[in-house]
Amino acid sequence: SAPTPMDDIFDLSPTAAVKRVSSLLGCSPTSEKVADYFDEHDKLRHLRENFLVPKIADLPPTDRSLVDGSQECIYLCGNSLGLQPKNARKYLEEELDNWAKIAIHGHTVGSRPWAWAENNIEDSMANIVGAKSGEVALMNGLTVNLHLLMLSFYKPTPTRHKILLESKAFPSDHYAIESQIRLRGFSPESSMLMLSPRPGEDTLRTEDILDVIEKEGDVIAMVMLPGVQYYTGQLFDMHAITKAGHKKGCFVGFDCAHAVGNADLKLHDWDVDFACWCSYKYLNSGAGGLAGAFIHEKHKDTIKPALLGWWGHDLATRFRMTNVMELQPGVSGFRLSNQPILLVCPLQASLEVFNMASMQSLRRKSVLLTGYLEYLIKEYYTEDPAQPHKAYVRILTPSDPRQRGCQLSLSFSIPIRRVFQELEKRGVACDMREPSVLRIAPVPLYNSFRDVHRFIETLGKALAASSS
Ligand SMILES: *Cc1c(COP(=O)(O)O)cnc(C)c1O
Repeated sequence: SAPTPMDDIFDLSPTAAVKRVSSLLGCSPTSEKVADYFDEHDKLRHLRENFLVPKIADLPPTDRSLVDGSQECIYLCGNSLGLQPKNARKYLEEELDNWAKIAIHGHTVGSRPWAWAENNIEDSMANIVGAKSGEVALMNGLTVNLHLLMLSFYKPTPTRHKILLESKAFPSDHYAIESQIRLRGFSPESSMLMLSPRPGEDTLRTEDILDVIEKEGDVIAMVMLPGVQYYTGQLFDMHAITKAGHKKGCFVGFDCAHAVGNADLKLHDWDVDFACWCSYKYLNSGAGGLAGAFIHEKHKDTIKPALLGWWGHDLATRFRMTNVMELQPGVSGFRLSNQPILLVCPLQASLEVFNMASMQSLRRKSVLLTGYLEYLIKEYYTEDPAQPHKAYVRILTPSDPRQRGCQLSLSFSIPIRRVFQELEKRGVACDMREPSVLRIAPVPLYNSFRDVHRFIETLGKALAASSS
């Protein structure tokens, strides 16, 4: 048969791609040459140049006697804090200069007038989450937006007052839901309906979620789930969950903190009622960056904000100061305060890099990048009955690429703290959850296949060092 053009390796299953390249190069599937080959054929490889990757020597836990500090670190925690886009500093300096030189006039003059600074970023943001322009607002922080949205979407009645969430929701989401229920005079004990994985399983099955909605939907006011679960990395079937919720008359909202910039979202087409997310994880806006909110356009004239501020007023007449509200439709009416321009700058710098690609092309790379990590983990760390003392790894994240983003959650058969410390000494930045889980997120926007290979090599050294 005719040889496959090599671009197509990105369309093969990760295992098939690794085998194809290793046989082509005549090397072992675990050789670093395979990683280099993937990188050479990665059309998104150049995007990394738009980010500042820390040097190993600069990371506080580094032990310079063990590793060459001049190399770039192995950064695998973009799920927690994305890297700094190079243009962030440039844009911040532009606005600091404007403030210094023209001060008050910066509100209306310049390339990014402060008074309507969101115009620079909201269309790109809408594009990334599959929303229409006007369905997205960038404002506040994530937990604040979650509250603002729930104030309008959670309207419990004595017969329909429950919120469906996961038993291991991110703490802030859990607290926000709990307090919203109390605020409405209901009790968390009877109004929080929590989903848990089946005994012995790590992730929720879609069929079980849909089943609970079907059975209990009549008393559920709101379904509030993550797009991607922060701990397991599971990507939920938001389309199916939304459909099931609507069939039962529930509002359906998603916290997309770990899904945005990671999964290919279609919030509008999936008919999601509302969503929110932060921007400092996969969206690289810097700690505490401007958060996002989505309200489907079908609600634009019916769902009103519970709390008002002057930034929800129509821009054309906002500054007439009449004290007669002319509310912007949809999510724009939920704005309270004027835009923090210093938070707009780094987010704009990052969204411009996303605009150089598409979520579909990023996902295509991501499936191979994370699949490659999975392949290498299984190759080296599958449980081996012949070597009962050898540490092994169980992957909590679903193996089906359609049910995960870029993150793999690795559960080790040994306590992980020592191993994590040995990784950190050698220039790996990743996330540990005691007692035994590492969350590893190769981000397609700036991570390379070589990063994944270096991680696996370093993990071998860290395991050896921590058992000696
Ligand atoms: C990161 C994250 C948060 C953090 O909330 P902030 O308001 O940005 O501090 C909340 N919920 C989820 C699901 C998260 O992943």
